[in-house]
Amino acid sequence: MAAETDAEVRALGRRSVGLIGWPVAHSFSPQLMQAAFEAYDLDWSYSLLPVRTQPRERLAEAITGLRALGFRGVNVTVPHKAAVLPLLDELSHAARSIGAVNTICLDGHRLWGHNTDAPGFVADLLAHGLEPSVLRVLVLGAGGSARSVVYGLAEAGCPQIEILNRTPARAGGLAREMAAIFNDCRLAGLPSRALAEASVRCDLIVNCTPLGMQPAIDGSPWDPDVPMRRGQVVYDLVYNPSQTEFLRCAKRNHCQVLSGLGMLVQQAARGFTLWTGLEAPLSVMHNAAQRALKRAQAGL
Ligand code: NAP
Repeated sequence: MAAETDAEVRALGRRSVGLIGWPVAHSFSPQLMQAAFEAYDLDWSYSLLPVRTQPRERLAEAITGLRALGFRGVNVTVPHKAAVLPLLDELSHAARSIGAVNTICLDGHRLWGHNTDAPGFVADLLAHGLEPSVLRVLVLGAGGSARSVVYGLAEAGCPQIEILNRTPARAGGLAREMAAIFNDCRLAGLPSRALAEASVRCDLIVNCTPLGMQPAIDGSPWDPDVPMRRGQVVYDLVYNPSQTEFLRCAKRNHCQVLSGLGMLVQQAARGFTLWTGLEAPLSVMHNAAQRALKRAQAGL
């Protein structure tokens, strides 16, 4: 988006954005985005836009409707992140390579698809003083979020990424796809039984499975009999709950632990900037995310 001054953005008046997905009621995005709009005194509103997968044309109808309703853009979440691609006019390189869009921008009449999960993950590592270009990484899972994490890491110069997945063919496929884009990164797909040996040769371990969140709240992608190395960094994309069994295990092994809340904020921050052209108020958004998490954990 062309850079606009604060005054120009405010002159746009009330603008609508929102979140397309199913379900969406649990999302923290409205609190994060609304806090960011208020920080700039923008009269923008962020709505939850629940869109089912059936009937099949429902998603296309919702996307077409964005133009008619004058939306500036939307976030897209499960289960539509991949299905939305063919409905858009333009895709960023990241969105096309990852095969997933989490942020749509309306630029005039054209619909642009972006993926802010990949840079959001990398930005959160950097915010914690972790430089991806010197990290050997083990990614657990090979689904949508793993695709974003692997792309982001490889783009940031990560020298080695091993992807371990319950379905090894999917891990191998992702490794080959990304190796075709990023020549300088050593990529490999592994079966679950390779966990112990892979654990030894990495600096950062990232959970990209839903194990640890509802309904698998007691689940973990890690076998507790496999030791982690003291000082290894262990990152859980799951952010609710903030303390998963995976992170508890990492703490017992004296690892540095990071939950997915930082990535959530960083990906939302990039969406805010794509829509408004303004620098995202990161600390405001982070505080809003913490409040949303506290409310969710209190069952409110
Ligand atoms: P997904 O596309 O459904 O992929 C799930 C992955 O987990 C697949 O590789 C799957 O293996 C594996 N898996 C699922 N259940 C498993 C089990 N019982 N045992 C072993 N492996 C299992 O999901 P996703 O979109 O990548 O999301 C994963 C997690 O990331 C979710 O918790 C999501 O909330 C979180 N996330 C967080 C952020 C953030 O900003 N913090 C952003 C995106 C996603 P198979 O290939 O064998 O099926």
